[in-house]
Amino acid sequence: MPFSTQFPTDEDLETLLRRPRLVSVLGANVLNLLVIIWYWGQWRLLTGALLICAVLSLINSKVFEWMARRFGGGVAETVRVVFNAAGLVVGGTLLQWPVLVWVFLPYNVLWFTGLDAWNRWRMVFFLGLVDGVALWQGSDLQMLAAFSVLSLFAYLITEKHSAVMMGVLKQVLAQRERLRQAHRELQVMHERALDQEKLSSLGMMAAGVAHEINNPMSYVTSNVNWLLRDLRKVPQLPCSLQEYVDDVLPATLDGIRRVNAIVMDLRRFARGDSESFTEFNFDAELQSALRIAQGELSHCQVETDLQEIGTFVGRPQQITQVLVHLFINAGHAVTDTGRVIISSRREGDMARVEVRDTGVGMSSETMKRLFEPFFTTKPPGKGMGLGLAAAHGIVTSHGGRIEVESELQKGARFTLFLPCRPPSAS
Ligand code: ADP
Repeated sequence: MPFSTQFPTDEDLETLLRRPRLVSVLGANVLNLLVIIWYWGQWRLLTGALLICAVLSLINSKVFEWMARRFGGGVAETVRVVFNAAGLVVGGTLLQWPVLVWVFLPYNVLWFTGLDAWNRWRMVFFLGLVDGVALWQGSDLQMLAAFSVLSLFAYLITEKHSAVMMGVLKQVLAQRERLRQAHRELQVMHERALDQEKLSSLGMMAAGVAHEINNPMSYVTSNVNWLLRDLRKVPQLPCSLQEYVDDVLPATLDGIRRVNAIVMDLRRFARGDSESFTEFNFDAELQSALRIAQGELSHCQVETDLQEIGTFVGRPQQITQVLVHLFINAGHAVTDTGRVIISSRREGDMARVEVRDTGVGMSSETMKRLFEPFFTTKPPGKGMGLGLAAAHGIVTSHGGRIEVESELQKGARFTLFLPCRPPSAS
């Protein structure tokens, strides 16, 4: 099932801000209309005041947006404030500071936006300039004080609203980031679940095949063993039979042993192994796995950093088998100049073993099929494609996991995480 999410984007926020901007333009125009009604008939004065309003409207909308995009919000806001203050001073001088011009003062302050450090200074400049000119023009002191206080509170309310909105916005953005993260994790888990599902159906098939082969193989094995034993007891064997005793039957038994080993691996992949959990020393098994894999690692440089893991509850032979597979694969991946780096340590209740190599690495295609039974890129005779499939089954049955990182020609890192006491053992 495909996942789809819709998060608010910067364009959404832009859309949200459009309405307040529309309201501010509407408010300015209503005030302009009142100025026209008030000064109806005084055409020269009205033309001058309306020209100023038109220039200010342009600066407050289009020029402000353009400057904010080009030079940033701070510069755009400063330009807007300077022009609004100048416009009010000129308009006020034209109209001799009547009430309607004063109304523009808190109205302008209401639209101070942003919470940068200069915002208050811009406001002080705005009020100071308009009040100074008004005083110089001989305005009524009480009116001037009343509108200045009104402007101040309009500004403070806007500032507080902006702060609250910014807080909410930050929370929304943080939540959005958390959601994105959760979504990414869900997708990874979904992909893992699909892989697990595929592997578990392969496991069921493997268990069926292993069971079917195992039964006939057990009596084939025992019959051939008995036949060889009985023939060895016969004193004077004809030459043709002696060849069977010396070569044919031992070779047959060797073949049978290989088939049995494959069947065992398949059963382990299918987690059908019934060996019970015991307590053992993990570090001893690690050393033993290193000894077993020594032959496949002798051509390259092996570096070890083995810290104590200590007591572990599980199936020791299987754990050794997993480690041996990882070591051998690393050995196969590197040439004579390559390195295999093995480290182990205990992390809380987990044993962590890392097998890193500087070898051929893997393509993403190989990485996807790594744990499938019979998947191999090795030439016939060198790989059966059962090592990691069996390792996967064993590790999962111990409540652990294997993490793989690799890139073509850049080596590979297999990290084994195993609980020192698997949940199923308690
Ligand atoms: P086999 O070793 O018999 O091929 P495995 O199941 O152990 O089977 O490994 C499957 C495949 O995974 C290998 O054929 C190889 O392509 C790839 N592989 C495993 N380990 C490594 C490694 N360390 N570097 C590169 N490829 C690896």
